[in-house]
Amino acid sequence: MNVEIVCVGTELLLGDIVNTNAAFLSRELAALGINVYRQTVVGDNSERLEAALREALEKNDMVITSGGLGPTYDDITKETAASIFGLDLEIDESSKEHIEKIVGTNLGKSEISIIKQAYIPKGAEPLKNDCGTAPGVFLEKDGKYIIMLPGPPREMKCMFMNYAVPKLVKISGKTMVSHTVHIFDVGESVIEKKLHKMMTSMTNPTVAPYAKDGEVTVRVTAYADNNSEAENMINPVIKDIKEIIGLENIYGTDVGNLQTALVRELKSKGMKISTAESLTGGLISKRITEVPGSSEVFECGICSYSNRIKNEILGVSKKTLETYTEYSAETAKEMALGARKISGADIGISSTGIAGPDGGTKEKPVGLVYVGISTENNTYAKELRLGKGFDNERDLIRYIASSHALNLAINELKK
Ligand code: ATP
Repeated sequence: MNVEIVCVGTELLLGDIVNTNAAFLSRELAALGINVYRQTVVGDNSERLEAALREALEKNDMVITSGGLGPTYDDITKETAASIFGLDLEIDESSKEHIEKIVGTNLGKSEISIIKQAYIPKGAEPLKNDCGTAPGVFLEKDGKYIIMLPGPPREMKCMFMNYAVPKLVKISGKTMVSHTVHIFDVGESVIEKKLHKMMTSMTNPTVAPYAKDGEVTVRVTAYADNNSEAENMINPVIKDIKEIIGLENIYGTDVGNLQTALVRELKSKGMKISTAESLTGGLISKRITEVPGSSEVFECGICSYSNRIKNEILGVSKKTLETYTEYSAETAKEMALGARKISGADIGISSTGIAGPDGGTKEKPVGLVYVGISTENNTYAKELRLGKGFDNERDLIRYIASSHALNLAINELKK
């Protein structure tokens, strides 16, 4: 399949902006095994754009445009393409709703033109814009395809990857397969450094990291003629990633999240878990019980916020609490042990520490956290320093502490 990329914008012709969209699209299309026949740049002028599109459609199976989908008078890509195919523009209700969700429904005279973006050629399919307002367009007519993408690079990339690539894969008769490696307790910058060569030099499969809430996932995607060919391309790359990052920091592949990985691991071993939570106030139990089928492996969660409950229910000794305080490895260990003992579970996990914003001291600052674990063979705790000194980091400290507790249990089960 031959493709021509047509980038629309007078700013590009004047050299005011660099045509990064064309470079991105060419690279991604090459990775899909799709031939880019030509890149064209045309200004915001309907006659010249029409001539460029006609020529591109005549010589190629597909034309991919970027730019000119906005609300202003000089945004003419959809109008021009529609007129070439003899199609009217009609409102796409889902795009209108999406725009209204972002800008509101009570628009003034000057803002009403934004709804113009929701008009697409009759019979075309809108491509969702998850990063902005203007939808893209997918149009198949008279044996030719045209994909229209927005100009802003962030919007264009996100729409291309999420909605245009699946169409291209289908049209080209290829298969796209992705696998995701889940990494915990290694910073995104460290991962980027370690996987830099892979991420920048590989085009098929591609390797892309994504960071959220203290975790990083690395997605490996291959395009191939069939599933098994794609799997064969991906497997050695995942093996290399595991070697480079280290198995101790990888909690699974295609598992979704830490709690799902933990529930799976417990099920496969036929074991049960209980929690004793101070700092996280039930968050660890919440995350475990979010996983369907967790009732098979989750015995109980004790939210032991006060020292009285730590002592009376969990059996943390008064001496421990007085000597080391509740913010200590000793308390975390005794909490985990208590959770395991009173519930009869195979594993007990615990959390204690200072989430802030108040309560920190020089010796025990905000973000000092202990997560504990107790099994038949071993009871220990891990000290964490999760405070970065920002305001409003209470929620993040609690969330990341709960992730560490889940990860501690996963690693213990893998031993
Ligand atoms: P908008 O709704 O923002 O008007 P649009 O789809 O109409 O989006 P344009 O108006 O053509 O897009 O371009 C918007 C901005 O996107 C430009 O000012 C420029 O910063 C950037 N842009 C457009 N085309 C390209 C390109 N080919 N390469 C890099 N950046 C581009």
